[in-house]
Amino acid sequence: MLSTRLSLLKHVGRVRCLSAQVHTACANEPMKDYVKGTPERKGVEEALDKLWNSVEEIPCVIGGQNVESEDVRWETSPFDHGHRLSRVHHANKAMLNKAIDAALAARKEWEARPLEERVKIFNKAADLIAGKYRYELLAAGMLVQGKTVWQAEIDIVTELADFYRFHAQYALDLAAWQPLSTEVSSNKFVMRGMEGFVAAVSPFNFAAIGGNLAGTPAMMGNVVLWKPSRSCIQPSYRIFNILREAGVPDGVINFVPSTGPDFGDAITSSPHLAAVNFTGSNATFSGIWKQVAQNLDKYITYPRLVGETGGKNYHLIHKSADIDTVVNCSVRSAFEYGGQKCSACSRLYVPDSMWPTVKEKMLETTKQLKLGPTNDFTSFLSAVIDGKSFDNIKTYLDYAKSNPNVTVLAGGNCDKSKGYFVEPTIVETSDPHDKLMTEEIFGPVVAVYVYPENKYDETIQLVNGTSEYGLTGAIFARDQGVIDTTQSALRDSAGNFYINDKCTGAVVGQQPFGGARGSGTNDKAGAPSYILRWVSPQTVKETHNPITDWRYPHMS
Ligand code: NAD
Repeated sequence: MLSTRLSLLKHVGRVRCLSAQVHTACANEPMKDYVKGTPERKGVEEALDKLWNSVEEIPCVIGGQNVESEDVRWETSPFDHGHRLSRVHHANKAMLNKAIDAALAARKEWEARPLEERVKIFNKAADLIAGKYRYELLAAGMLVQGKTVWQAEIDIVTELADFYRFHAQYALDLAAWQPLSTEVSSNKFVMRGMEGFVAAVSPFNFAAIGGNLAGTPAMMGNVVLWKPSRSCIQPSYRIFNILREAGVPDGVINFVPSTGPDFGDAITSSPHLAAVNFTGSNATFSGIWKQVAQNLDKYITYPRLVGETGGKNYHLIHKSADIDTVVNCSVRSAFEYGGQKCSACSRLYVPDSMWPTVKEKMLETTKQLKLGPTNDFTSFLSAVIDGKSFDNIKTYLDYAKSNPNVTVLAGGNCDKSKGYFVEPTIVETSDPHDKLMTEEIFGPVVAVYVYPENKYDETIQLVNGTSEYGLTGAIFARDQGVIDTTQSALRDSAGNFYINDKCTGAVVGQQPFGGARGSGTNDKAGAPSYILRWVSPQTVKETHNPITDWRYPHMS
């Protein structure tokens, strides 16, 4: 097992950033295992201790100044909601308008800096994330977001460091491309930042996404207002401070915890809104899009709307699949981080011939998953993020228990007396269009539909047409012909498609991430194309052959 992982790391550790002009080696940040007795385990344990026994005071930071507000809220731990971890100042509308002014004031100098200088700052931030601040970041993710050490490692450390390093390299590679110059003219392609400010709106479940939503536009010469999710403020604040330490100047990124509606109203009513970089639910993104549309006549430039939203991701099992692979991948994908990944498997299609064995093994495995606090390293999953999410998941559990078409096979219980704990739950439904098969639950709940083995082609159509989303999906089969035809038939159903692997776990630079349909604008963070969303290119032609006659030759 260990040797497989080591060889995998060796294999993935060095990949090539492909560019027509430049071939540069980029490396994914290697992951640590945090095994008991190792220095890294000790480092995290000390950081957990420190953060658990202190309360972080978190101001808004506008133009480099700490700004306090009258609206102060507590950030607590999901697995012990009586335990306060941060005291957070929330920006009101006047403060948000000041943040817009501060961002615009910082723009000219920042945008004019050479790309190489800006990129250096983000590479330094990546080193600080993976080095000096690694353990504190992990501890913040574990305590505030309820992540196990492994889930925190793949989010707030490795993914974030990768985002900055890979995007930095892609930016340099793209800048190396220049248009044709001839004897008649010299031509340049200039990657300008956008005129105005970028609003970065981040979700609770990935601190790395927040760091990327604010950081990558800034890397490309933009100025930013960053509104973190109310349930991921301390990890985001730590990332923000790392960016400042690395050299991001005052005002370039403004850190403004606030309510969603206050932030949405403030940014969409400013004529200077250049772009929204959003990740969260599709309901919220659609709301922002509509507000932008209503204000369209106000803007100096058409705002770019980049949004990665929800998913109802599937594992489709063919009769030729390897059962253990199916079971392990499905259990991990459905239940790690309590199913709170946009890519989590939440609908599973299994042929009737295989289901008895798959069911038995899945139930046996699920029984072994420990639900507990994340500072207990033996926990596989922990509490869900907050009371709102807990209550929402509970409505699905109650529905499942009372619906005659649904059988609860595992879990189904929850308890929020100390933390927001929801048992890993497997439900089987006889209705493939049941809401458990179509709606994003965002908790540790996976719905299974057992299909007649001889109805595989019809089941592919079912998978394709059941949900409004198109984020991730996986096919499990050993028959290559089946893999090929299924992949082709499900082409529109997933922005990230997996073959014999779980539908979670995308790695920056290897599986650029995002989906279409109701899952967003599919701009693929972690790929070179993402960089182009954050520039407003200017083409400059300098002629060497001035026009001396207004007539064209054919006229004489
Ligand atoms: P959410 O939509 O509740 O909140 C996202 C952000 O939007 C938060 O910062 C929130 O405060 C803010 N917000 C809320 N109302 C707003 C408004 N009117 N104007 C401006 N901002 C507003 O989502 P969440 O619960 O934080 O995250 C979970 C969701 O995110 C899930 O649907 C998940 O699938 C999705 N997600 C998608 C991806 C992806 O890459 N596709 C990645 C992570 C999470």
